Amino acid sequence: MKFLDEYRDADAAKRFAGAIRQAVTRPWTIMEVCGGQTHAIVKFGIDELLPAEVELVHGPGCPVCVTPLELIDKAIEIAARKGVIFCSFGDMLRVPGSKRDLLAAKACGGDVRIVYSPLDAVKIARENPTREVVFFAVGFETTAPANAMAVWQAAREGLRNFSILVSHVLVPPAMEAILSSPGNRVQGFLAAGHVCTVMGFEEYVPLAERYRVPIVVTGFEPLDILQGVLMCVRQLESGRAEVENQYTRCVRREGNETAQRLVAEVFRIVPRKWRGVGEIARSGLGLRETFAEFDAERRFGVTDYTAEESGECISGLILQGMKKPHECPAFGTRCTPEHPLGATMVSSEGACAAYYRYRR
Ligand code: SF4
Repeated sequence: MKFLDEYRDADAAKRFAGAIRQAVTRPWTIMEVCGGQTHAIVKFGIDELLPAEVELVHGPGCPVCVTPLELIDKAIEIAARKGVIFCSFGDMLRVPGSKRDLLAAKACGGDVRIVYSPLDAVKIARENPTREVVFFAVGFETTAPANAMAVWQAAREGLRNFSILVSHVLVPPAMEAILSSPGNRVQGFLAAGHVCTVMGFEEYVPLAERYRVPIVVTGFEPLDILQGVLMCVRQLESGRAEVENQYTRCVRREGNETAQRLVAEVFRIVPRKWRGVGEIARSGLGLRETFAEFDAERRFGVTDYTAEESGECISGLILQGMKKPHECPAFGTRCTPEHPLGATMVSSEGACAAYYRYRR
């Protein structure tokens, strides 16, 4: 397949692995910050191609996994209400809240629908003027423009029955939280290419300088990841800490400025709690006051929820690169994709799900 097979070429992969082996002289720990990259690494055995000195750890790169428990509880509470049509991408439906998941709410009579775009939810609102339609707006910077567009469009049409439950998180503040934590092991980052397609990569420059870490904007295919690791290792070995772009076929330094303007018009930066990690200042997006009428939390009065995480799940440590999924005592026994204890086992981008699928 064009633009896919050439990035999975086994001979080229071996050449990159050889170049990494030649470049490395001591141990380095590198974190990828995207669940798509985590899955590619585990699925294609990229970490097993690398020399023992290079360890890849998996960061908080799956938006489903970092959505806090209380947000899931709020979604379930809203979905169960009479007259509500609750719309979501499919991967959120099986994420466990503190007592049940959205699929259970649907089984109990809630009108929960899978959509493929937030604009599908706007269409449902347009076609059902007597029902309240809510979209579960989860994601990183990558999905923020489409969610901003849905709110902007609903405002333009004067749709009074549409709202979004917002759980948007931002990648650079999470990277900074990891770098400044006392147990940090990360010495270099592979930044998520799709996030940078929207946001560009200028905001990573102060991070690289302040914490002396190389950051390489990297794509998602095996050769992208191997080249990203090689660029990162070469920087580490030569004592450089710069932002470099491996994913030049998609990412420009300034990103997509039209998308950024739309996001800035609809959303503002807020503190956000990350599941398993805790609250990180300025790490999320919330609706601006001018769009507050589209805020499902306010509309349904579900603002003050708290929930306790399962004491058994160590996904917080996994998302900070301190543990690997198979180090969790529940992995593959009490916690499986059919009966998940934590979100990292549910999502198709979760590290535990990747290890369960490819590494048991
Ligand atoms: S295996 Fe399950 S319980 Fe363990 S960290 Fe992963 S999601 Fe949590």
